[in-house]
Amino acid sequence: MEYVLETNSLTKKYNKFFALNNLEIHVPKGAIYGLIGKNGAGKTTLIRVLCGLQTPTSGVYSIYGVSNRERKITETRKRIGAIIEKPSICLGMTAEENLIEQYKVIGYPNYEHIRELLKLVRLDDTGRKLAKNFSLGMKQRLGLAIALAGNPDILILDEPINGLDPEGIIEIRELILKLNKEKGITFLISSHYLDELSKIATCYGFINEHRIVKEISSKELEQNFKVRTQISVDNLEECVKYLEENNIQYKVISDEKIDIFEKVNVTELVISLSKRGCNVKDFAEKGESLENYYLNLIGGANNE
Ligand code: ATP
Repeated sequence: MEYVLETNSLTKKYNKFFALNNLEIHVPKGAIYGLIGKNGAGKTTLIRVLCGLQTPTSGVYSIYGVSNRERKITETRKRIGAIIEKPSICLGMTAEENLIEQYKVIGYPNYEHIRELLKLVRLDDTGRKLAKNFSLGMKQRLGLAIALAGNPDILILDEPINGLDPEGIIEIRELILKLNKEKGITFLISSHYLDELSKIATCYGFINEHRIVKEISSKELEQNFKVRTQISVDNLEECVKYLEENNIQYKVISDEKIDIFEKVNVTELVISLSKRGCNVKDFAEKGESLENYYLNLIGGANNE
């Protein structure tokens, strides 16, 4: 597999404190890579190091196979666009002026793509409106346009939907999917919104205590998700007895709900329980969520 971003024992220390500790990440070409971890795990530090805003204490990283120890890393890094923490926009300027400014920074001589870029992020009708009067969603989309100005192959987004309303979240989601599909842009996205991330990510890296504890593709993850059947009953005691007698794995959720962790024949179960004076009021098959997977994983890593 071709990795466009890769690290090897990447470490960043502040005095004796490890912000990144021998971190290994592998971002496949064309992926939407979800970086997941609790506050302070090291996500922003990793992103800042990859973007050249901080230097690692030890270890290496490479972008499109070019290591940070090579001279041409500066040139290669131009293939990355990023929004770190919050978009770097000038609030006293219009969307177009912001992009002109960005083009000047990266040294693009003509501004012919600006209209196209504004259209892409749906800000082409904002005219003379200053960025300070934009909604949070519009600011975020302007930030994306600025990050896209250099025509990057990789976009790194640190918490891209923080503070956005549902509509804003959908807009960013659709934009990411469009850019990934139509322009082949690889994404590295850190987010605490796991449900949202699971709608777009093709793979995940779980970061805990300053290192990646697990990398997994969304396909593998789906296969990992344990299917469970949740039933609601009116006689919990009898139901538990039945499950115990039949060696069926279960977990009591409330005084009427039980999760069963095995494929069961629901009709058979309902009839058997009914004969014992226990009625099944409701049942549902449930898949494990990304959130559950994360909590189990990080809980496990903490217990090591
Ligand atoms: P969040 O989800 O809250 O943004 P994060 O995973 O992005 O968290 P980082 O911002 O990368 O975490 O921080 C990792 C650790 O490094 C934190 O404990 C933080 O306090 C520490 N840290 C970051 N920058 C510095 C610095 N300049 N000096 C000292 N410690 C720092």
